[in-house]
Amino acid sequence: MRLIPVLSLLIALYAIGASQAVARAAEGASAREDGRSGKDGKAGAGKDTKDTKDTKDTKDTKDTKDSKDASADDGSKGGKDARADAGKDDKANAGKDAEAKPKSKPRSRARPKPPAPQALSAHDLAALAALQSSLAPAAAPPAAAPAIHKEVTWSYEGDSGPAAWAQLAPEFAACGSGHRQSPIDIRDGIHLELEDVAFDYRESAFKVIDTGHSIQANLAAGNSIRVMGRRYALVHFHFHRPSEEMVEGHQSEMVIHLVHKDSEGRLAVVAVLLEPGARQPEVQAVWNNLPLERNEEQPASVHIDPAHLLPENRRYYTYMGSLTTPPCTEGVLWIVMKQPITVSQEQIDLFSRLYPYNARPIQATSGRLIKEAQ
Ligand SMILES: [Zn+2]
Repeated sequence: MRLIPVLSLLIALYAIGASQAVARAAEGASAREDGRSGKDGKAGAGKDTKDTKDTKDTKDTKDTKDSKDASADDGSKGGKDARADAGKDDKANAGKDAEAKPKSKPRSRARPKPPAPQALSAHDLAALAALQSSLAPAAAPPAAAPAIHKEVTWSYEGDSGPAAWAQLAPEFAACGSGHRQSPIDIRDGIHLELEDVAFDYRESAFKVIDTGHSIQANLAAGNSIRVMGRRYALVHFHFHRPSEEMVEGHQSEMVIHLVHKDSEGRLAVVAVLLEPGARQPEVQAVWNNLPLERNEEQPASVHIDPAHLLPENRRYYTYMGSLTTPPCTEGVLWIVMKQPITVSQEQIDLFSRLYPYNARPIQATSGRLIKEAQ
């Protein structure tokens, strides 16, 4: 039969074609992963900064300048990363700050050797092309999926309220399964001679954003605290009403959370409790620059000094907890100032019109150590 050799030849040609297509597909995937691998970890934040710079260069020189200044002021790569992260969070919720960015995909270093060139007829090349294009969709990197930014809607009430946070997205799991969550009712602290938190705050440019969960002031770089041997840069502060943390069962009218990040991404939040009383100028400066639209940063024409948001008496409680908003990331150092500061009832009322209630319920302390300055 003459058919058999012809068939064998065809099968052989297709086999060559398929192996080449597979090899090329694998090469392509490998190259893409290599391209992505530079984005992992800190390099990722760096690239994001660059992307932002590139895209903004032409249309938004001020923002670009701000972010450059911030990076330069930080003076360290880590600080730059923190700033880049903070910038990213500006658009969403700073709570996400702590969340680990998607890490690099597994790298396939073993590249299949391309087969030796074969002399193929036009027909064979066409068949090969058809085979390759049929393989192409399968060879597309599944890695593209995590890069898509998805907004998960969460809130302080109803179906998307705190009790449901853990079920809203896999990355919110800690909100339900964590054992070191915040806020807590601060009581039974161990009285110690705690070192002072060294606040290095100064007059700073800021932008106000309504995140949909709170009003937040994003600060220019240059403010930091030093505590327990680490320096944390102040990234932003935001408000809750009522105060999320309780002190021996007492909940304050409001609270300011000053969110700090160190060069390795560790978070430290300083909580300043707010009670009704005298008007607070820094808070007023934030209110005065409220943006008209949600999730759009409003640059302020004035500066604020976050030091003025601190109480005179700097004694504090400290414990390890979590972000109080999804993804409820743990490992957050909490520093709750004992002495409240005051804001006017008018200032409280203004916030209440936007956010009548944005406090997560008290979480179990679960035997956590609470230290209290004597
Ligand atoms: Zn908060």
